[in-house]
Amino acid sequence: MNIIVQKFGGTSVASQENREKVMNKIIKQYESGYNTVAVVSAMGRMGEPYATDTLLSLVGNQKIHLREKDLLMSCGEVISAVILSNLLNSNGYESIVLTGHQAGIITDDNFGSAKVLKVNPHRILESLNQGKIVIVTGFQGATEDGDITTLGRGGSDTSAVLIGEALNCEYVEIYTDVDGIMTADPRIVPEARVLENMCYLEVHQLAEEGAKVIHPKAVEIAKRSRIKLIIKNTLNECAGTIIKDKNDWIIDNDTNQKLISAITYKKNRTQVVVDNCDNNNTEKLLSLIAEDNISLDLINFFVDKKAFTIDENDIEHIVNILDDGKYTYNIVHDCCKISIIGYKIRGIPGVMASIVKALSKEGIDILQTSDSYTTIWCLIKSKDMDKCLNILHKEFNLGI
Ligand code: ADP
Ligand code: ASP
Ligand code: MG
Repeated sequence: MNIIVQKFGGTSVASQENREKVMNKIIKQYESGYNTVAVVSAMGRMGEPYATDTLLSLVGNQKIHLREKDLLMSCGEVISAVILSNLLNSNGYESIVLTGHQAGIITDDNFGSAKVLKVNPHRILESLNQGKIVIVTGFQGATEDGDITTLGRGGSDTSAVLIGEALNCEYVEIYTDVDGIMTADPRIVPEARVLENMCYLEVHQLAEEGAKVIHPKAVEIAKRSRIKLIIKNTLNECAGTIIKDKNDWIIDNDTNQKLISAITYKKNRTQVVVDNCDNNNTEKLLSLIAEDNISLDLINFFVDKKAFTIDENDIEHIVNILDDGKYTYNIVHDCCKISIIGYKIRGIPGVMASIVKALSKEGIDILQTSDSYTTIWCLIKSKDMDKCLNILHKEFNLGI
């Protein structure tokens, strides 16, 4: 069976006008002979009536059980799927809605960020065999006991790729409000350009480091099963970004010759530098941090100094731990982590030198750095973020 999965994000299904565009994208694939599964997000963003954040705002700061919170959040996708299905049906295309649970997505009971244990797609296949278009509610599954769970914010991308994997689909299209994966967030870098081809490695890194355009878990699943992903804009006919394995690109002739593919950012980071840390009290400090479930990033340890970053929500916890242990430390608030990504930077000298030169010329201080074989990270003050992204974008000629 030739199956394709199409995922439509919040803005794609937010208005009647956009939903008609979505319908046309689905019909086009259906008419060309594909068995078509569409996975949808809740309609719109914060402030719009049925968006996930709006549903959450109904309980505001009230305490709510995580199980019931997931049930509440799952409603947004249900509403969106029913409206889209009805649009297709009223235009003569028979469709059926399946919730994540009905579509066979079984998860653990970690409400709010549930892990998918298995996908049993028999009901999807049954409906496809009847010639129907199947609309699945993204972002959700259910435990073995039938309790509804959600997969973490932005999780509809994950639903789509999981379903594509279970159905052995030809490819998964992720429709959003930009023309594909870009060299930087176009809301901050006006010169950002769409990348035609990318490999899983780079896209995963980009997503993990803050680019919202696709969820990192979705990329992980696509990578493990080598599912081709295409990121496209619902509102136009652009070719979008094709994501495959890097070895496949090399065979296919990699068209992106640049060292750096894209840059991204993570806000709300805080730098912590601890001074009086020998081996013994470092171990104690790290155990306490782990017990408090605080995740550390950009870890740079020297004999006399330990530097790392945390999310700003964890500041109070870390200050308590450091004060109780009588550590001497310095905290730098309002930081931002910039990630400069490209799988070709491995072993290439001079990349860091270019970054330092470009930023120092503009008076931007680098507070800390780290690197891996695909990425260079720089911690800077948040006030410098927009300028920094634009300077680096220019320095590495990403807009051309
Ligand atoms: P959807 O609701 O369709 O899932 P998201 O808001 O989750 O859409 O993701 C799309 C947004 O991601 C875009 O509007 C864009 O501002 C942002 N974005 C951040 N970094 C990038 C990037 N490198 N390329 C494309 N979009 C990006
Ligand atoms: N509606 C969910 C969210 O806003 C899932 C998604 O859009 O992917 O996080
Ligand atoms: Mg998204």
